[in-house]
Amino acid sequence: MARLRFKAVEEAQNRTATKVEIPAGKVTDFYGSNIFNDEVMRAMLSPEAYMKVTVAIKSGDKIDREIADEVAAAMKSWAVSKGATHYTHWFQPLTGGSAEKHDAFFDINLDGKAVEKFKGSALTQQEPDASSFPNGGIRATFEARGYTAWDPTSPAFIMYNEAGTGTLCIPSIFVSYTGELLDSKSPLLKSLHALDKAATEVAIIFDRHVEKVSATLGAEQEYFLVDKSLFNARPDLMMSGRTVFGHPPAKGQQLDDHYFGSIPPRVNAFMVDFEFEALKLGIPVRTRHNEVAPAQFEVAPTFEEVNLACDHNILLMDLMRKIARKHNFEVLFHEKPFAGINGSGKHNNWSLGTDTGVNLLGPSTKPKESLRFVTFLVNVVKAVHDNADLLRASIASAGNEHRLGANEAPPAIISIFLGTQMTKVLNDLENKEIVSIEKGENAYIKLGLNRIPSILLDNTDRNRTSPFAFTGNKFEYRAVGGSANSAQPMMILNTIVANQLEKFRADYDAEMTDHEGKKEEVIVKILKGYIKESKKILFEGNGYGDEWKEEAARRGLSNIASTPEALKAYLNKDFIEIFERMGVLTEREFHARYEIELENYIKKIQIESRLIGDLAMNHVVSTAVKYQTRLVQTAKALKDMELVNESVPVVNIIKEISERVTIISKLVHEMTEARKRINNLEDIEEQAKLYGTEVKGFFEDIRYHVDKLEILIDDEDWPLVKYRELLYIR
Ligand code: ADP
Ligand code: MG
Repeated sequence: MARLRFKAVEEAQNRTATKVEIPAGKVTDFYGSNIFNDEVMRAMLSPEAYMKVTVAIKSGDKIDREIADEVAAAMKSWAVSKGATHYTHWFQPLTGGSAEKHDAFFDINLDGKAVEKFKGSALTQQEPDASSFPNGGIRATFEARGYTAWDPTSPAFIMYNEAGTGTLCIPSIFVSYTGELLDSKSPLLKSLHALDKAATEVAIIFDRHVEKVSATLGAEQEYFLVDKSLFNARPDLMMSGRTVFGHPPAKGQQLDDHYFGSIPPRVNAFMVDFEFEALKLGIPVRTRHNEVAPAQFEVAPTFEEVNLACDHNILLMDLMRKIARKHNFEVLFHEKPFAGINGSGKHNNWSLGTDTGVNLLGPSTKPKESLRFVTFLVNVVKAVHDNADLLRASIASAGNEHRLGANEAPPAIISIFLGTQMTKVLNDLENKEIVSIEKGENAYIKLGLNRIPSILLDNTDRNRTSPFAFTGNKFEYRAVGGSANSAQPMMILNTIVANQLEKFRADYDAEMTDHEGKKEEVIVKILKGYIKESKKILFEGNGYGDEWKEEAARRGLSNIASTPEALKAYLNKDFIEIFERMGVLTEREFHARYEIELENYIKKIQIESRLIGDLAMNHVVSTAVKYQTRLVQTAKALKDMELVNESVPVVNIIKEISERVTIISKLVHEMTEARKRINNLEDIEEQAKLYGTEVKGFFEDIRYHVDKLEILIDDEDWPLVKYRELLYIR
């Protein structure tokens, strides 16, 4: 009998909701209580230090040594008073997650006395032994030195452990000693800077008071919850985050009865718990609901400045993993943990806001503002059109490969959905012939810009199949994977939009000097050209249909399903030139990222392939053979009673098991041989390609036969927790 499976099922079934400690007071009383925020700084720093830090936060500039010492002292006493014993620079190496190395505040003086110590230098800079973080060949291990440096634009926070003590975490960037960026955060900060500069230059055409433009992000996070015992009884979930086998249950998501349904009590307790902790960390979580697939849920915070929102998303994922365990759950962020039902994405809602309080992608009832809105909208469309392959690369990963361009999933074609009304506005703008606008004429009426309604989308005009959708006052980049660090796609998006806005400003300046034209005419003329050049990226139909694939091919849009293929955009000279000019990433850094992503891809597929081999042989084939032996005994007994001939079911089952076991064993053997051969190749590009085609090519075939055995073999014997158990027990 499959002991582990049944024990796990029993444990899972007997659980009740874990009690949640509710913090005292209203949300506003404890919101941000675990971060070193403005209020704390104002109270604890001298006016001079407070001012300098505030300026540094706004400008991203460095602060001097003395001020750093004062800030460090204040941070330390604040953190110690809140039960922190350690501190760490919290950074985001190119592995996708976050990293930390804890140092104690406590130290011993020369005279042997215990002291609590945290100097300004330790706040601003640290040297983790960084030799085992991925660097894509930038840093040979013998010069394995990089440093982390404080990013004052994201507040320090305290993370508590199970023992109840805390660690002061200082958001930081991670750079090699030779100055290359080895993390996700530093290029993101640079891209935000470039975007601010370019967008401000365009925004002041419309309102000269604008001094700063910030990109904003609200990341909706989808995830699955699985009971801890069930999770632990599935080696594939434990080690790769997804199930490599599993026959679909009789009931999947076809009834749509889970979406927005009532949240199960144990899940609700988990949500309440992690939300409280998130709020204390100043993460403005607001929305919780069931998602489409069984056992799938979503959390969404209110949008924030992009750098902060990216930090908060990484932190939130970390928090959710920790708190889930308290509730005897494991949370899965993998893009496709279960075949046959929806996967998980991270919808990146992105927009641009000015320091004068205007959302540049928000429509307005005032025609003049409408022109500004359309200008920014069209520039984003153009940027996405011109750099679609780069955007595709920014979301490429082994996990997301199951979501993009695979079975039961959206295609890997980057397109933009605008909605009926905006499509019409752009159509009119493109096609209406406006030669000139006479004095006294209302330019906006003539341009059709007086009719853009202030609410652009209602819920019926939503396209859930688009990878990049305009949703009324922001773009929703929906193709980002559930487990991804948003910093990467956001960095790419910011930079290509910055580049485009810079071009627009240059086009505008050139036209204005050439024609001395009316501002509005010039802008419209340029936008018309942009719309013409980029409209093939606009698509309002069903992105999941096969017709779209054909149509997209006719339009000449890329459809890159394979990760190694998609990543090649990082080697494209034209793209690299943009990033170098924008001061975001150098060719060397791009190359490093390319190699890291390829390596990552190879390793992920390699792990899955080993898992498939192990599980197929040690769990599935061994169980099948044992069951078969029992059937053979039955058949023999029947034969003794002269009750058996070739067509008796038991004989057929024995034969089918034999066949499938033979095929599985053969395929596993061949897959292992392929792996060996590919591992010996020197060229990592070739390796990645072959892992994606040859090795991965075995997965579906092996799975097919394993899943057939699952429904053939006695349920009592089947060792792997079944889909219906994973998805429905909670
Ligand atoms: P939906 O209907 O898609 O659920 P919501 O209004 O709930 O739309 O927003 C989804 C996400 O988009 C939230 O995180 C929200 O804060 C974010 N969002 C709203 N406005 C903006 C904006 N201007 N910039 C970035 N994100 C935004
Ligand atoms: Mg949304």
